[in-house]
Amino acid sequence: MPRFLLVAFSLLLAAAPTRAEWFYREEAIMGTRVAVELWSEDAGLARRAMDAVIAEMRRTDELMSTYKPESQLSAVNAHAFDGPVAVDTEIIDVVSRALEFSRLSDGAFDITYASVGYLYDYRAHQRPSGEQVAAALPGVDYRQVQVDREHNTIRFLRKGVRIDLGGIGKGHAVDRSIDSLRKLGIEHAMVNAGGDTRLLGDRRGKPWIVGVRDPRNEGKMVTRLPLEGEAISTSGDYERYFEEDGVRYHHILVPGTGDVARAVRSATIIGPDATLTDGLSTAVFVLGVERGMELVSRLPGVEAVIVDKDGRIFYSDGLAPPQ
Ligand code: ADP
Ligand code: MG
Repeated sequence: MPRFLLVAFSLLLAAAPTRAEWFYREEAIMGTRVAVELWSEDAGLARRAMDAVIAEMRRTDELMSTYKPESQLSAVNAHAFDGPVAVDTEIIDVVSRALEFSRLSDGAFDITYASVGYLYDYRAHQRPSGEQVAAALPGVDYRQVQVDREHNTIRFLRKGVRIDLGGIGKGHAVDRSIDSLRKLGIEHAMVNAGGDTRLLGDRRGKPWIVGVRDPRNEGKMVTRLPLEGEAISTSGDYERYFEEDGVRYHHILVPGTGDVARAVRSATIIGPDATLTDGLSTAVFVLGVERGMELVSRLPGVEAVIVDKDGRIFYSDGLAPPQ
């Protein structure tokens, strides 16, 4: 090895364990890209913290999964009409929050969308017929889901109801990850899972800058927002979809009709935690610009950026005009 390289190498080795710096890790989990960036003065602690985030993401993914027949949610979907099904408190908490978002959004956010949603197979480019949707639609109604907080059980009041936490689970996983970082003493971090991001503190004296991507051009940004300690989520029609005869069939459904939501291309929500921004970004995507902004204006500390179906950009009142 040439001498200068050897010197450089040993300098690197000597410096690594002691130098305070930014650490970054990225992995594919929950069908998406999970990333964590954090500041630490201790490389060992930084590694443990990043390990904790990845472990938390995998754990949540397992817990919230409906793909695996042995998961708790699969048991709920199979048996909750026959009688109450016991689940972890964590699932009770997430389902309760989902029901709260349903009430807030007048049913635009609804985890029972799955009663129709499961008829789609995006990978296989399969969608249900009108008759199939009509037959499954009575099962889409969040009021048919009963949560018993005392006994930690979930029960369905109607046959054919199914739930899926795809519209809120990633936000929850991001929140849990931020909690574990905080417990480890980390003060500056960003955790991201697909469209859901939460920040811990600032970027050491500066805000974090989070971009909102152009729904039709992955490399372009609609805007960049300076944020500290908050969460930001985007729901878009570009995440999971297939096209048929020039029509885009994507993964967000209008609970009332079972149709694909078509009012906007993307809805971004900024708020105090990622479970909320994840749920509300899906809700506002379904509601469209007018009703979506009306909902956002009623919620203190919540802001929105919406790109409508023609590519026009709308900002909620509390957001400074974009630079
Ligand atoms: P992403 O998964 O791309 O981050 P979202 O947070 O917008 O996107 O969630 C979309 C997911 O939410 C869908 O893949 C599906 O699992 C679920 N979903 C679809 N329509 C609804 C709805 N109306 N209410 C609640 N969840 C929904
Ligand atoms: Mg969402």
